[in-house]
Amino acid sequence: MAKDKITTESRDLLAKVSDVSTETEYFSPIPAGYKKGKCRYVIVMGTVMSGLGKGIFSSCLAKLMQDKGLKVSPIKLEGYLNIDSGTLNPFRHGEVFVLDDGMECDMDLGTYERMLDQNLSGSNFSTSGQIYSSVLRKERHGDYLGRDVQMIPHVTGEVKLELRRLAMNSEADIVFVEIGGTAGDLENAFYIEAMRELAYEEGPGSCCFVGLTYILEPKTLGEQKSKAAQLGIKQLMQMGIQPDIIACRADNPVSEQVRQKISVFSNVPFERVFSMHDSSSIYMIPSMLRDCGIDFQVLRLLKIDDRINLRLERKAWAQWCDFTDKIGKEDRQITIGITGKYTSVRDSYASIINALEHAGIALGCKVGIKWIETTEVTDDNAAEHLGDVDGIIVPGGFGVRGTEGKIACIKFARENGLPFLGLCLGFQMAVIEFARNVCGIKDANSTEIEPDCEHGVIDILPEQKKLEGLGGNMRLGGRDIEMKKGTVAWDMFNRQAQVRMRFRHRYEVDPEYIEALESAGVVFSGKAPNQPIMQIMEIPEHPFFMSTQAHPELTSRPMVSQPMFIGLAASSMKRRYPKDDLQGSVDAAKSVCV
Ligand code: GLN
Repeated sequence: MAKDKITTESRDLLAKVSDVSTETEYFSPIPAGYKKGKCRYVIVMGTVMSGLGKGIFSSCLAKLMQDKGLKVSPIKLEGYLNIDSGTLNPFRHGEVFVLDDGMECDMDLGTYERMLDQNLSGSNFSTSGQIYSSVLRKERHGDYLGRDVQMIPHVTGEVKLELRRLAMNSEADIVFVEIGGTAGDLENAFYIEAMRELAYEEGPGSCCFVGLTYILEPKTLGEQKSKAAQLGIKQLMQMGIQPDIIACRADNPVSEQVRQKISVFSNVPFERVFSMHDSSSIYMIPSMLRDCGIDFQVLRLLKIDDRINLRLERKAWAQWCDFTDKIGKEDRQITIGITGKYTSVRDSYASIINALEHAGIALGCKVGIKWIETTEVTDDNAAEHLGDVDGIIVPGGFGVRGTEGKIACIKFARENGLPFLGLCLGFQMAVIEFARNVCGIKDANSTEIEPDCEHGVIDILPEQKKLEGLGGNMRLGGRDIEMKKGTVAWDMFNRQAQVRMRFRHRYEVDPEYIEALESAGVVFSGKAPNQPIMQIMEIPEHPFFMSTQAHPELTSRPMVSQPMFIGLAASSMKRRYPKDDLQGSVDAAKSVCV
């Protein structure tokens, strides 16, 4: 588009559609209507190594701010080129977390949702793939007015635009930015550069940089060493970022001496170099941060102490402490078996582990987990694998591996009154098991596992059949479920007519088999409104046989447990402690569900 042809009108229009300034040589990454100074930014970056819990740190700090009456909005910036996490292998990257709007994202978004008790959306998650796509789309659209499109200012500008749009749309007092990976990764370098620019453009006091680092404690030396941490922080400083706060991850509380050393090497005052050592539960970390006074340090740095409401905070904190006070004081213990093929990486099941922890805390019962590798389970040896558990979960998954073992586990649970919760693929396996062993449809299967099977009781969703390829063709996100009155599930969900859960699947129960399954004793207690898509299945005679096409684990929150997990844990407790009167604890836990 020739620059001299631009009229005032088209210039206004261009500025609106592409946030591009035509006035100067600079690309303007400021969306229309953005008010500088309204929102502040806390930017969390990793050094030394990834996987240290940037998301946990950031979400805990965000929670402390939210408790003070501030509006917070988190965003995770991922370095990879995928547009979303949908095609990522959970074995490599941890579970795929699904948001209510259907966004498939990193498991850290789950940590934010749980810690903040807040539903997030696609605008809280971005990848390099999304950023580059957007820049390239604008380039094709002619939005850059004949300029050569560059990493700086266009790509970094796109990142800043994204953050400012989030700040504007969420009306946040503080946007918490978590940058994936570690300083020094090539794929994250433009994010760090964008943050440097953002801090410069927004002005002093607008951004607070947090460097998360790691203190080594080699067994052979028996003391904490800070050199790796110093080098990591130096790397950030070379990129133009002066951290304001340093959070030191470590196995044990970080000594004063080590913190002093880091303070001197990084120009960060000693009182802003914190120890964030291992904790028995992530729900204890907010109080660890609060005890160090990190929340007020941040408020002071960002100069927003005047926006907080201490009365609100006292109330929120008292509620939170009522919850955390129960952690570690459970007087009973159960073991839940989780069958799954990603059993070597616990991150693949992060939300399930959390949901069980929430249910256990609500019931005053510690929940231990036994991982069961289903490729080894058969009808003949199921008792050996499941003899010592009080209940089992068959979680979601894709593909053939281990499915026969899962079916064997479900058969054992059904026949032996072992509490069972099936999630997504687990629900589909429960339907197949019942069809085979109770309805007598011997070759019942899922067409995902056996594409040409005679009796595909689980088949591809009609709406998904039209879509080609594996990327972006699932039924995704939050959907309403119509509950059937009088069922166990209906009762568990406080007798609500409709509940909402999140989904991520391609296959479903073939409606042709519903009648056969129901007449043999299955109750479909939840289905999609106005569609024959079965969403919850139960067997009423069994102590607890519940499964759902949804992923209830994604919406369990620390102080608002998910009823299905309470149901599983409660009936497993009854099995383990048959002589105890547990009704009081179960009723108390049920009252904090939903
Ligand atoms: N593979 C199954 C499907 O696509 C189940 C998916 C899942 O467990 N998330 O329907």
